[in-house]
Amino acid sequence: MQLNFRGLPALVTGAGKGIGRDTVKALHALGAKVVAVSRTDADLVSLSEECPGIQTVCVDLGDWDATERALGNVGPVDLLVNNAAVVPLQPFLEVTKEVFDRTFSVNLRSLVQVSQIVARGMIHRGVPGSIVHVSSMVAHVTLPNLSVYSSTKGAISVFTRAMAAELGPYKIRVNSVNPTVVLTAMGQKVLTDPEIARKLKERHPLQKFAETEDVVNSILFLLSDRSASTSGSDAGFTLS
Ligand code: NDP
Repeated sequence: MQLNFRGLPALVTGAGKGIGRDTVKALHALGAKVVAVSRTDADLVSLSEECPGIQTVCVDLGDWDATERALGNVGPVDLLVNNAAVVPLQPFLEVTKEVFDRTFSVNLRSLVQVSQIVARGMIHRGVPGSIVHVSSMVAHVTLPNLSVYSSTKGAISVFTRAMAAELGPYKIRVNSVNPTVVLTAMGQKVLTDPEIARKLKERHPLQKFAETEDVVNSILFLLSDRSASTSGSDAGFTLS
């Protein structure tokens, strides 16, 4: 599948590490003009060295006002990847207000905020666009200690369908990918609990973890014209 994003403006959140970083590298290699958004400046500096010409924005996406200041005037974006997230591990009975609020702010509220900024720009310019949310298989299956994280991903399923329905008339497609474990920093954290690791592997139809490249390929497909008739798909944990 040969994809070409030459000259298309793209924005990726959580671009400093893991899946987001590799998505930026892939989009850059395929000719997109990428805005990479993340929280740790050193990650963005090293990413810029690897991908000359990208624009970087350093912001804590859990902070609504800071995000508005950083991205409110970001310029045209045709392709958006909402990827930034945190994964607290807490038993349900020990869930704290701070962790709940922080996780929902980063994983869900920023997705809404950044999508609004980008979609308003697409509508204003009268151009079609594609938005991909990086969700998780735990939107669809439950596992111990992940109730808050899973709830943010479950809510992304609803936003995917709702946004697809409301933005479809403007030719803006909205889809999610729902990976199983990928051995990024986040994946390693989840796998420190051997019980979760075993259950995660068992729950995936292919009974294996994914490579970052697998997820990036799914994201690229959903961003591209190869999925031109696909919108509102929340592809469960089979698309990973
Ligand atoms: P990583 O933890 O490896 O990378 C996450 C990136 O997001 C980092 O660059 C991080 O920056 C950034 N980020 C986190 N919080 C913020 C914030 N508040 N503001 C700006 N940037 C932020 O995660 P992965 O690459 O593994 O995960 C990417 C996506 O994939 C997430 O949505 C995750 O839920 C999903 N996913 C991951 C799976 C896995 O096993 N890895 C499985 C299923 C889904 P910093 O490090 O500076 O905080």
